[in-house]
Amino acid sequence: ASVVDSDADAIERSNEAALRPTSLDEFVGQRTVRDQLSLVLRAAVSRGATADHVLLSGPPGLGKTTLAMIVAGEMGATLRVSSGPAIQHAGDLAAILSSLDEGDVLFLDEIHRLARPAEEMLYLAMEDFRVDVVVGKGAGATSIPLSLPPFTIVGATTRAGLLPAPLRDRFGFTAHLDFYSDDELHSIVGRSAGKLGFEISGDAAAEIASRSRGTPRIANRLLRRVRDWAQVHGSGTGDLAAAQQALIVYEVDERGLDRLDRAVLRALCTRFGGGPVGLSTLAVSVGEESETVETVAEPFLVREGLMSRSPRGRIATADGWAHLGLEPPAGALP
Ligand code: ATP
Repeated sequence: ASVVDSDADAIERSNEAALRPTSLDEFVGQRTVRDQLSLVLRAAVSRGATADHVLLSGPPGLGKTTLAMIVAGEMGATLRVSSGPAIQHAGDLAAILSSLDEGDVLFLDEIHRLARPAEEMLYLAMEDFRVDVVVGKGAGATSIPLSLPPFTIVGATTRAGLLPAPLRDRFGFTAHLDFYSDDELHSIVGRSAGKLGFEISGDAAAEIASRSRGTPRIANRLLRRVRDWAQVHGSGTGDLAAAQQALIVYEVDERGLDRLDRAVLRALCTRFGGGPVGLSTLAVSVGEESETVETVAEPFLVREGLMSRSPRGRIATADGWAHLGLEPPAGALP
């Protein structure tokens, strides 16, 4: 299964690459983040300096990788990419940092998953552009300071709260990306359809937008599925019927909930009487990692008002029960 998964991931990434905006002007929505980031970058360019380190947080698929690419593009810099889980040892990070050229932008995805020693090395590198490389082992080990040319780190995390404060404090600019409005997603779908050479009607684009969980990655993915449906069963163009039929095939409901969202909500209602239930218990009951439930399904369910978080655990709201067509038992609602 892992081979199949990674193939699917690779295909998904290459599909995404074709649709990525390449400049801040092309980046739809997130107005405040865009304005602030634009200022940081333009000021750095006019000083002839590298930009401050940037931390981006928010649920998956909202544009963190895209923004990292844009930062490099706008700075005329080379982008280097790695991630927290890929860096197992401080030595791995030292190798990456010492290979950077002046002005490079290093994108560190899932930065909250860096191992502790690597994290500590990163503090020093970000602040003083220096790493201490340890040579040898045991009593004979010596630490050799190595100075680095100035560079910019763009860190991405699904939750900024997961980062230790000393690391968070070393970012000069921190931005939180929020879910997109239907109008913004509508314009992303229209733009992506243009890039794919796929003709789509306004109402079909609106239908996709309203069912994309506020997430551009999902909007682009649903658009490709609608294109498939239109080519196989329809006229080849994206009309409302093609959009609706494709969304039925892919089990995306009228509010945009996908299979995982519904599984979480259903487990919460039917197995735990609507809660409160702890995150890890809920995650086990749907066969998912806690982190996936917490960073992928939960933010959307909470934002939609279908679920709420309390100090005692997760709770289904009246709207959550109603969405599944279920009656809450007496006393289930807070
Ligand atoms: P992850 O954390 O899961 O890697 P991400 O936040 O880095 O996700 P991206 O890979 O940057 O998300 O974006 C996913 C897709 O959505 C890309 O194909 C990109 O084209 C599109 N996209 C994201 N944000 C925007 C935007 N503001 N305007 C237009 N397209 C966008």
